[in-house]
Amino acid sequence: MKFSNPSHDCFVPSGINAEVALKRTTHLCVAAHQDDIEIMAYSGISECYDQDNKHFTGVVVTNGAGSPRGGPFANMTDLQMQDVRKQEQRRAAELGKYNLQIQLSHPSADVKMPHHPGVASDLEGIFRGCSADFVYLHNPADKHETHIAVLLRCITAIQTLPLHLRPKKVYGCEVWRDLDWLPDNVKVGLDTSQRPKLALALLEVFESQIKGGKRYDLATLGRRLANATFHTSHETDTVTSKIWAVDLTPLVIDKPLALNDLISSYIHLLAQDVSDRISRLS
Ligand SMILES: [Zn+2]
Repeated sequence: MKFSNPSHDCFVPSGINAEVALKRTTHLCVAAHQDDIEIMAYSGISECYDQDNKHFTGVVVTNGAGSPRGGPFANMTDLQMQDVRKQEQRRAAELGKYNLQIQLSHPSADVKMPHHPGVASDLEGIFRGCSADFVYLHNPADKHETHIAVLLRCITAIQTLPLHLRPKKVYGCEVWRDLDWLPDNVKVGLDTSQRPKLALALLEVFESQIKGGKRYDLATLGRRLANATFHTSHETDTVTSKIWAVDLTPLVIDKPLALNDLISSYIHLLAQDVSDRISRLS
């Protein structure tokens, strides 16, 4: 497999050919940074874990150079940090028995350019090289600019595919903004209650972030528990952990919706819901 940045990394934990691994992908997550996959797509990872007919592939688009650092990592250069983060991502792929882990190693600034040729051709190659049924992307209400840039580049890449090669379902998942606020009739709950030890271990792998002063491990598991618990006030919990996602499939069908129109309509529904309840009880 060829990708545009010479420092890209392809890792196949099982040792099979990388192209064969990409082709058999059934669940695909394309995220901006190392550790985003483990935060946002754990339902896909756990669904594919130890399965013969389901294969999870993770793609990290940026090189992780700009990540905050503290503790034992405080004095590392950007280059050293990139290597640490690359190795952490490989360890996560091994631990989670991913089918394939690709790290494209693009600088964030390139990803934020709408028509960067290397970013565009890499993503198109990945989506064309597999026919994943389920795709996990960043959500359009996320407040991290690189996340939104990666989401936009992915939607563009999927839209270049013929209809029959496009994924059946595309989910926009939580990282830098929860999706609890989405109206219940449009939000999708992804079950993350399977293999809780694995869920924790996959987050703990990213020592450079956690020891650097960001407890993503506790925060991520806490959010999933809160999502499950605070969903319905009058019913007992059926699952103990879940990620909320927004269904982005309408963006990749024939005559697709625009991303801004889709998320704006949901924000409008939230405003309506809040305002209607207050009016009703006043
Ligand atoms: Zn990120």
